[in-house]
This record gives sequence, C-alpha cells and structure tokens, in this order.
Amino acid sequence: MTRLHDILAARIAAHGPITLADYMAEALLHPIHGYYTTRDPLGAAGDFITAPEISQMFGEVIGLCLAQSWLDQGRPKGVLAELGPGRGTLMADILRATARVPGFHAALDLHLVEASPVLRAAQAARLPVKQVHDRADTLPDAPLFLVANEFFDALPIRQFQRDGTGWRERMIGLTDDAALTFGLSAAAPLAMLDHRLADTKDGDLVEHCPALPGIVSEIGQRIAAHGGTALIIDYGDWGSQGDTLQALRGHAPVDPLIDPGSADLTAHVDFEAVARATPSRFTRLTPQGVFLERLGITQRAQTLASKMTGAALESHIAAHRRLTHPDEMGDLFKVIALYPDGQTPPAGLEP
Ligand code: SAH
Repeated sequence: MTRLHDILAARIAAHGPITLADYMAEALLHPIHGYYTTRDPLGAAGDFITAPEISQMFGEVIGLCLAQSWLDQGRPKGVLAELGPGRGTLMADILRATARVPGFHAALDLHLVEASPVLRAAQAARLPVKQVHDRADTLPDAPLFLVANEFFDALPIRQFQRDGTGWRERMIGLTDDAALTFGLSAAAPLAMLDHRLADTKDGDLVEHCPALPGIVSEIGQRIAAHGGTALIIDYGDWGSQGDTLQALRGHAPVDPLIDPGSADLTAHVDFEAVARATPSRFTRLTPQGVFLERLGITQRAQTLASKMTGAALESHIAAHRRLTHPDEMGDLFKVIALYPDGQTPPAGLEP
C-alpha cells in the first residue's frame, strides 16, 4: 500500500469519512505523494496518452483556430494561455503553426496554469513562458486566447445519489480491516443540485466539480470584458451522466481506491456546468472529430502523408483516425468555446 493510503486512512479514522473530491485532491496533488506532484504521467511509458501526444496535427489546427480568432478580433495585445499544459507539446505545436501569422507571437505573452512541479520543469524547457500560475484567477486582466485540453477532467468531483428530493453523498470511509471503501451519507436537500431534480430519478448518480465554476468564470470574465476566446476540450457531455470516475495506471483501468497517488484519476466534464458558469457567450458543444475536420485536419494529414512511407505512414494514418473517428476519440471528446459578445465564434464552432 502507498504511504498516501496510510495518511488518508489515519485521517478518516480520526475525523470520519471524506468526500470523493477531498480524496481526489489528495491523490492527484498531495504536495509530497500526489500523482501529478511526483511524475510525468503522459506517453507510452506513462499511464495515459492525450491528443497532442498522439499527433502534432492536433496542436497545429488548434493554433490556427486561435490565430484566426485573434485576427477576427483586430489583433489585440494580450495573453496566450493554457490550463494544464502537460509536457508542453500542445503549446509547442500551437507556437510552431502560428509562427508565420504576422504579429501573433509579438502581441501575446505566454501564461500557463500548472500545479505539477515536474511538468512545470518540462514546460519551461520547451516554451517561452512569461509566467506560470497556480490558479486561473491570477491570469492578467487582458484579451485572453486560451486552450485547455484534458484539464477539467483532472479536477476533483463530488458524487451524489438521488434519494427522494434529497441527495446522499458518496463518501470514502474505512472497512473493518482499514481499507478505503465507498459509503453514502444521510440524505439531505442540496440547493446546488435543485436543477437536477427535473432530469433524475431515485437512485440516479450525479457528479459535481466544485472548482470548475470558479475557473470558468475567471476566464469567461476576462473574455467578456477584454476579448479573446477559450477552447475547452475534454471527454464528457452536456450534464453529468452517472458515475464516470476512472483510475488509469499503465494505460489500464484500476480500482480508484487502491494505492492513492499511483494512478491517474479523472471524471467526465459536465459542459453544461461550463456554460452555466461563464458570463461570456459560449458555442454549441461539438464533437472533437467534427471540430478537427472543420479545421482542415484531413488536408493537413494528407500534406504530411505525402512525405511519409512504411511504418511512419501507417502510424500517421492511425493517429488521424484516433483523433477524429467516432469509435475512437472523435465522439467521446467534445469542444466548447467561450467568446465575447459581438464577435463571431472561433472557426469550426457554432453559436
Ligand atoms: N493538456 C495536456 C496534459 C493533460 S494532463 C495534454 O493534453 O497532454 C492534466 C494537466 O493538468 C497536467 O499538466 C496536470 O499537472 C495539470 N493539472 C491537474 N490538476 C491541476 C490543477 N488543479 N491545477 C493546475 N494544473 C492541474
């Protein structure tokens, strides 16, 4: 068992069960034993792989989408930002693809929001970073061109089971032999879930991400007041849909309560909660595959393919399929953009 398991078990024994959000926060970001605190989780040798790590094409078309929004909005001076940049691959591809957009790099300072010291070091080695932030609320008050890929799915969630007109929270307690186990709190009404009484029945489970509204509103306020756009890409849907907590280690699902700190923990993103939280306009929620196709990923794939042969060509074709096909990431992953009043939405997305 991990050291963090013993720390959490002692805390629960002394003070009682903890929420799933408390558990996830400790498992992912505990200052000494947290999953993101201690490692680079990405890539073939890691625990999971993300779209920018699959192919450079992902970041290239997203870079051109952000640059087009910047041109459409009159080339403002401001900020280019990313939430949870991982190894910096997505931003490196964005910067390479936009290097020939006159004035884009000169107008925008690069700001990152990143919690992991290991990943901060990887990002600083690859990117011309102006400032790294612990939280989105310290981003400058300026036009903001932002991307967040697989960031919101890493934020802690709480889970609630419907019981009459109230809710029982899924808590983490201890078994008789001191292993972590799920239980349910007593039922109580919850104002923040009133809107879910209409679309759930007894026994249904809903998820709530406590940090999401604050982060989205910080970003949306800047975009509404100063301009810019935010592309939020993640797996999830409109409204939370049952239990989506997932633990991954070495690219395989594992029990989320075994060995906290040693596996990635994620949950699907509730994009309706994103839309509710932003004071700016937001686009229609769009499948990743549709968005990338509209941005011209297939033409880009063909251009790159023309210089490839053999195994490189095969893996390039597989990467294109993986990013766009409905049976792979194309449908499961979705995109929503925040944008200001009086402007057109970013390319590939509809109001
Ligand atoms: N966007 C990257 C990495 C996704 S992994 C990609 O697509 O490859 C999630 C990223 O979010 C990591 O960089 C992780 O360290 C960061 N992260 C997770 N929780 C965070 C939090 N609460 N605050 C800031 N960064 C966080």
